[in-house]
Amino acid sequence: MARLGDPITILKGVGPAKAKQFAALNIHTLQDLICHFPRAYEDRTKLVTIDKLEEGVPACFRAMVMNTPRTHHVRKGLDLTRVQVADHTARLTLTFFNSKYATEQLQYGTEFIFYGALSGDYAGYGMTNPSFERLDSAPVTTRRVLPIYPLTAGLTNAAVLKAVRQALAICDTPPEILPEAVRREFGILPAERAYYAIHEPASMEEAELAKKRLIFEEFFVFSAGLALMRASRAMKQTAAYTQCDLAGFRSRLPFTLTGAQDRAIAEITADMQKGTPMNRLVQGDVGSGKTMVAAAAAYLAVQNGFQAALMAPTEILAEQHYHSLNKLLAPLGIPVCLLTGSMTQKQKVLTRSAIEAGEMKLVIGTHALVSDTTVFHNLGLVITDEQHRFGVGQRAKLSAKGEDPHLLVMSATPIPRTLALLMYGDLEVSILDELPPGREPVDTFLVNESYRARINAFIRKQVEGGHQCFVVCPAVEENEDLGIKAATVWADALQKTVFPDLRVALLHGQMKAAEKEAAMAAFARGEADVMVATTVIEVGVDVPNATLMVIEDADRFGLSQLHQLRGRVGRGGAKSYCILTSHTKSAETLQRLKALCKTTDGFKIAEEDLRLRGPGDFFGSRQSGLPVFRVANLSCDLQTLKLAQQASARWIDTEGTADTPEGRALRSRIGELFARAEGTMN
Ligand code: ADP
Ligand code: MG
Repeated sequence: MARLGDPITILKGVGPAKAKQFAALNIHTLQDLICHFPRAYEDRTKLVTIDKLEEGVPACFRAMVMNTPRTHHVRKGLDLTRVQVADHTARLTLTFFNSKYATEQLQYGTEFIFYGALSGDYAGYGMTNPSFERLDSAPVTTRRVLPIYPLTAGLTNAAVLKAVRQALAICDTPPEILPEAVRREFGILPAERAYYAIHEPASMEEAELAKKRLIFEEFFVFSAGLALMRASRAMKQTAAYTQCDLAGFRSRLPFTLTGAQDRAIAEITADMQKGTPMNRLVQGDVGSGKTMVAAAAAYLAVQNGFQAALMAPTEILAEQHYHSLNKLLAPLGIPVCLLTGSMTQKQKVLTRSAIEAGEMKLVIGTHALVSDTTVFHNLGLVITDEQHRFGVGQRAKLSAKGEDPHLLVMSATPIPRTLALLMYGDLEVSILDELPPGREPVDTFLVNESYRARINAFIRKQVEGGHQCFVVCPAVEENEDLGIKAATVWADALQKTVFPDLRVALLHGQMKAAEKEAAMAAFARGEADVMVATTVIEVGVDVPNATLMVIEDADRFGLSQLHQLRGRVGRGGAKSYCILTSHTKSAETLQRLKALCKTTDGFKIAEEDLRLRGPGDFFGSRQSGLPVFRVANLSCDLQTLKLAQQASARWIDTEGTADTPEGRALRSRIGELFARAEGTMN
């Protein structure tokens, strides 16, 4: 008997070359292979007679070869083999492309089971490249439900099938993690049967049942993990804050807070008075004023004698937060400092020692904050901005810098409820559903290349009106991807040929942090009219005088990302516009982009984005911090998620810490899942 952890090279037919192909699918061990689930199935169980075959509908039929196959050499690289088959109802001509195998196997007078779809042309009906097997062979490609696996170059479905079959024969399936009571209640297959049936289902119904079980299992593991985290935090103690008067803070604000901001701050204050660590997500659309909510929380922490840290995903954003919060809080006697990777070694050392000594009260930075060399004096509050870019693990790592500090998570990307439940299932949620007064929605248009002259005229008009424009390109340099606009080239073209009299600036992710900062700061001061940029401007950066955003090749971006980009304009009082350009002819893509023109509700856009692209692509896989689900599809399986969440919560309450085989297996699976989620982060 082999073990789940054994390498797949112990399988027959899997040598170093095959192993490399499997590795491309992240399959290294037998367990990986057994957990490589089919993405679809073909029902090849139905056997019909030839006269019952329907055009375009694949089916199995039994037939005898009626002549010797004939091969024509059509041209170099294309040989066509034709052969006649028949059953008692009809005859049929089969055509194979470049198939020596068919020529050899399909001998006159022998019978086979074929699987294929009928196609018709002027010469009558026929069939191209059907699968076939001898009557006496074990069903592999006919007479069964055929799993269709995700593949990679060089690896065929048949090869995966063969390997999986062997693996299932020589080792046990992953252990049962669902308690029997839960399985019974939800009508769920036992682990062993499910793992077997997902690869070798006797029927489509059984494949469905297996899938249902494995989806339930994934959700159960994940929500049990979050529930355990939540439970362990609820048992922790922190100092209950007593200094909760915000009058001093409010007096410094140049505006009155919105009702939603007030509500969120009240919820945060209540959390901080409790004596257990706060775990709160503040979710609000672009421009809803989350920074002020964060500032209020930091103010409270400092009033109660603690340090606060604010972590942003980019240097530009960290710097901007630093400037605005320093302006607000320094006059209130709160020392604020900035810590980013691009500061000089000396600056970093000095800043870190001031942080460690407790001289700095609010520390703003990038993930440099998480580095081991950053030590806090008494970190009481951790705030992460644009949280969807950080994973559960990074959150935990920063928290570990204090003694169970309060945690505040800010998300500017409205996250569909489904995903929020998953990513933040361990957090309380405050929603900023109100924009500061005086904001007009950004008018959004979708145009093609024929509008180029008008776009340019419109840019000029904005500039002549004293405003500024962003032009966002999907790539930095020309060679990245053919046919899409590159920021460097486009900036050059605009400056030289279209707007020689205007000031065109450039900003992209390959510039040094200091250059980026300088470019952005200069633009914010009004020293350029048009800023050509990549998505580095996506998060946070505020230029209220910018009234137009042109997004080139908008089809290259996700809806949520476009919405986020669009949020860079319309931040001042003036009417603002967003123009999406696209060459695409795809009706589906155009429809997706049009959805963005119709609504400015970030939550609606996020739901739509999730529906269209699935959770994997929703945030761009690299930055999602989401666990990698193998079978579950979040947009479809919401109901299962809810059931699994209820079941896991109940299970944790009743026997979550019990030392049963299922309990142990479950806890180890939880560890693996979270480790995998972190793996996608970097
Ligand atoms: P986001 O939620 O996208 O992080 P910000 O916190 O950056 O939004 O706020 C966007 C802009 O709105 C900033 O210029 C900020 O100063 C301003 N702002 C925030 N709250 C209010 C308010 N209550 N009234 C008016 N302007 C506000
Ligand atoms: Mg923000």
